[in-house]
Amino acid sequence: MTTSDKKLTISFEFFPTKTEEGAKKLDQTAIELSKCQPEFFSVTYGAGGSTRDRTLDTVLSVRNCTDIPTAPHLSCVGDSKARLKSLLEQYRSLGINRIIALRGDLPSGMGRSNGELQYANELVEFIRAETGDHFHLEVAAYPEAHPQAQNFEADLVHFKRKVDAGASSAITQYFFNADSYFNFVDRARGLGIDLPIIPGIMPITNYTRLARFSDACGAEIPRWVRKQLEAYGDDINSIKQFGEEVVTRMCERLVEQGVPGLHFYALNQAAPSKAICQNLKLF
Ligand SMILES: Cc1cc2nc3c(=O)[nH]c(=O)nc-3n(C[C@H](O)[C@H](O)[C@H](O)COP(=O)(O)OP(=O)(O)OC[C@H]3O[C@@H](n4cnc5c(N)ncnc54)[C@H](O)[C@@H]3O)c2cc1C
Repeated sequence: MTTSDKKLTISFEFFPTKTEEGAKKLDQTAIELSKCQPEFFSVTYGAGGSTRDRTLDTVLSVRNCTDIPTAPHLSCVGDSKARLKSLLEQYRSLGINRIIALRGDLPSGMGRSNGELQYANELVEFIRAETGDHFHLEVAAYPEAHPQAQNFEADLVHFKRKVDAGASSAITQYFFNADSYFNFVDRARGLGIDLPIIPGIMPITNYTRLARFSDACGAEIPRWVRKQLEAYGDDINSIKQFGEEVVTRMCERLVEQGVPGLHFYALNQAAPSKAICQNLKLF
């Protein structure tokens, strides 16, 4: 079977809701996105356990109303091994079998010393030691390098540590330049890393938020895209339309090149991700 014969998997990422109203809205979003036949949904986790209960409640609520497997993210900074272990046991008893395993980022001012695991490779190792092969473990990858990485090479070496510790597949930070993804995958393959590396896709809907987010996580918005989005000012409809075109075109290139899947940072909204999937004729 060639890469292009394999089914492209789709997944959508949500964040935990804070209110009952937010939960109801997210259930509707998930029901809408379930029409794209995703392989799974995922729900983020606040570093230090700040959304521990809400992440689980959101996972269960989304799974119950769609029957789509839903995976919690789990970050290790600021959490003790005992707390992580009890959460893993809870997840396992609830029939959850996929986790997005991360280091996480504590709010500035909170040292990392209050957690027992410093990096994601240690979390992957810990989960494998505690639960064997029960969980499919996704880890994060950074085609444009993690913002705190010493350099690209060092980041790749640290990525490989997560793979060697037992990761099953990887999801990338979002990017708007497909070549950064292709380069990263080539370099990873050169190091003998052969797990699926799924591009993370960020639909563009709000320029101010996207710019702030991208600065923090080290994702580059190409100058021509930035300039055009800036020029639209408060014209939300033009921003959304242009954003949809830009991201659809990039995804077309990724799909043509045989990526194993697309993971959408859906930000609890259905329409932007669904429109891109529709443009790509993915369902
Ligand atoms: C798909 C995806 C989902 C995410 N979901 C969440 C979420 O739910 N909650 C959340 O808080 N954050 C989330 N994040 C953000 C993530 O937690 C941050 O990017 C964080 O800064 C790094 O996490 P990591 O798992 O990549 O860390 P790591 O792989 O541990 O890497 C972090 C940094 O340390 C370096 N490094 C790694 N290992 C070592 C080592 N052994 N020794 C020295 N240096 C090392 C790396 O080069 C990198 O610069 C997500 C990111 C992605 C891409």
